[in-house]
Amino acid sequence: MSLRVRHSIHEFAPLYTPGMKRAIRSRRKVYGRLLEHARRQPHRECCGILAGQDRLITQAFPAKNVAADPVRNYEIAPKEIVRLMGELRKRRLEFLGIYHSHPHWLDTNEPSPKDIALAYYSEAIYLIVTPRPYATTPIRAFSIRDGRAMELEIQVLP
Ligand SMILES: [Zn+2]
Repeated sequence: MSLRVRHSIHEFAPLYTPGMKRAIRSRRKVYGRLLEHARRQPHRECCGILAGQDRLITQAFPAKNVAADPVRNYEIAPKEIVRLMGELRKRRLEFLGIYHSHPHWLDTNEPSPKDIALAYYSEAIYLIVTPRPYATTPIRAFSIRDGRAMELEIQVLP
């Protein structure tokens, strides 16, 4: 009998070592899609959800920003979240996180106090995109829990 056991270093390493950024993984096409989405409407915030398997983001699902002031906020309607979750189940994908963009006139893509206050999913990865053309880190990843944001490293895979 042959039994192949899959091991990865992540199964043994602690989830987070202080001083070291925890890494998340994303397919390159998702990374490109988020930039495209943000750059199509640089003057306002775009948003959507992230899905995949084993903490590898393989799909992004754009959502409508229904915030009253979409230039400064983002909000996905509960009805749309329910619809998207159904879509994920159908495709056997896990919900991994939420992305949104900051408008081009904001010079950072770090979570705002509001982003932190409204981060309801403590297990989720929050990606923040800037449409600014020469940004050194056009997409940044954060884990937000208990009112604190921690930056994560993004490993972009083919
Ligand atoms: Zn924000």
